[in-house]
Amino acid sequence: MTSRPIIGVFAVQGDVREHLAALERCGASAVAVRRGVELDRCDALVLPGGESTTMAKLARTFELFEPIRERIAAGMPAFGTCAGLILLADRIEGGIRGQETFGGLDVTVRRNAFGRQVDSFEGDLDVAGLADPVHAVFIRAPWIERAGPAVEVLASVEVAGADRIVAVRQGRVMATAFHPEVGDDDRVHGLFVDLVR
Ligand code: GLN
Repeated sequence: MTSRPIIGVFAVQGDVREHLAALERCGASAVAVRRGVELDRCDALVLPGGESTTMAKLARTFELFEPIRERIAAGMPAFGTCAGLILLADRIEGGIRGQETFGGLDVTVRRNAFGRQVDSFEGDLDVAGLADPVHAVFIRAPWIERAGPAVEVLASVEVAGADRIVAVRQGRVMATAFHPEVGDDDRVHGLFVDLVR
């Protein structure tokens, strides 16, 4: 692995440009991935925010679904934000019927978990591995309902008296329910680029 890893951003939908820019600022070579040959070149992959149902369907359309699933299962580092977290979860609650995921994280994720009243909000969040809180933006975000023993919780938020998991890492797979690509704080992407290196 070079010190300037090639990190792909799954680029069929969602906030692709913001991820590409953040990864470049963290010292990675960032490339948009829409085809198998582009995925093959990548050392790691980011799954952006957007709509998880649409992204899973488009992955099928672009013949990327099985290749991405296989690469992640084979140990390629992956980082999902919001819809990307859903796509990395082994199990979904509140998904549409038959909603598929690439998997890789031994978690049950709840789609649109925060409910209508607070469907979008922001706040300062302590993230394991970072000295100062991150200003986290949540947009129709999921949370992690249950996590297996191999999953390290990086951040939680308190909602109605209960702690809800919103950032995790399991081996080389990382995910956040919020959008670290929004704004100019690249530290969460930095954690991922370090993990890839
Ligand atoms: N609610 C979206 C979904 O289920 C995720 C929202 C987002 O990525 N901002 O896919």
